[in-house]
Amino acid sequence: MPQVAIAGAGLMGRLIGWHLAQRGITATLYEQAAADAPRSAAHVAAAMLAPVSELPEAGSAIFALGCESLRLWPPILRELGVAHDVRGSLLVAHGPDEPLLDKFYRSLGAHRNEARWLDGAEIERLEPALGGRFRRALLLANEGWVDNRALLAALAERCGEIRYGQAVAPERLRAAVVIDCRGAGAALPGLRGVRGEAIRLRAPDVRLHRPVRLMHPRYQLYIAPRPDAGYVVGATQLESESRRQVTVRSALELLSAAFAVHPGFAEAEIVELGVGLRPAYADNLPRVGWQNGVLRVNGLYRHGFLIAPALLTQVAAQIDAGIALARQREEVSCNCSAMASA
Ligand SMILES: Cc1cc2nc3c(=O)[nH]c(=O)nc-3n(C[C@H](O)[C@H](O)[C@H](O)COP(=O)(O)OP(=O)(O)OC[C@H]3O[C@@H](n4cnc5c(N)ncnc54)[C@H](O)[C@@H]3O)c2cc1C
Repeated sequence: MPQVAIAGAGLMGRLIGWHLAQRGITATLYEQAAADAPRSAAHVAAAMLAPVSELPEAGSAIFALGCESLRLWPPILRELGVAHDVRGSLLVAHGPDEPLLDKFYRSLGAHRNEARWLDGAEIERLEPALGGRFRRALLLANEGWVDNRALLAALAERCGEIRYGQAVAPERLRAAVVIDCRGAGAALPGLRGVRGEAIRLRAPDVRLHRPVRLMHPRYQLYIAPRPDAGYVVGATQLESESRRQVTVRSALELLSAAFAVHPGFAEAEIVELGVGLRPAYADNLPRVGWQNGVLRVNGLYRHGFLIAPALLTQVAAQIDAGIALARQREEVSCNCSAMASA
């Protein structure tokens, strides 16, 4: 029997498995998808680390977890050899939408010191490709991105055995501690999937160093850089659990936003159109807790990469408690069998 069984090998399942392996604890992961056909939100994600950008919508709890994670990520990512960058992100708007930048700045309240106004010349100094394109921008300090696919691949090597193609019910798994990391696939009371579409581009003609968010009355779309002239343009947010392919409407919105930020995206290759379901509870906040003898880690919504290492600290404490309880149970049952045979 493995010490720990984990249902779901997306972001949290792999991160927890890796953490346990470092402590010499063996985990077995069960993943419904085949190894070459991932279904996790983590695979599709833009994986931006953006506590300030998300603050007005997400609130102070996510902001605090995000700031803690910004401190925890760099050594983890260095050890795993995964590309990431935290040189800040830029918030821009075209002329008529510029008041949205001011509105966003006001909504930061006591955290306005996390944002700095840039004029056209400063924008050009930081991001030469955007020279002359925007009059003003906000630079959000310390924000960045993680190469999510490189991270998932590096974790897969080090998180314990992943048994692919196995859709499991965690309640039926046998282990000292069972952890449910099935994301939107978990069908837990109050949990829903929120559809997100993102497009991967290769654009050797455009050189952006940091994530750029475009303010717009209906949506905020972003362009997150990746190594080798790659970009993730994301993401739609739809109250739907449909996994059908990206719609024309969404593709037009995402690609128009990229083109509006830089016309060089017109010549970009479309590498992939991706769909994922973000796992969310009604308050869009994560939950770590025991239910029917299973440790449930879920509800990471649109902030999984932003908050994962901070959440891992909470999960680790619960696993320790679970392992201690399993040991006590084992001792009691050993004592009982010894007494029975005496
Ligand atoms: C388009 C998009 C953009 C995003 N952008 C960002 C971003 O910029 N920054 C950020 O922080 N977050 C972002 N996210 C959110 C982030 O991806 C999620 O919060 C995170 O992946 C949730 O992690 P998880 O491990 O709970 O779930 P997942 O990563 O979805 O993993 C769950 C895994 O469980 C498996 N599973 C489900 N049911 C079963 C079963 N019965 N048996 C076995 N396995 C099962 C699934 O196949 C999957 O592999 C984005 C998400 C999307 C969709």
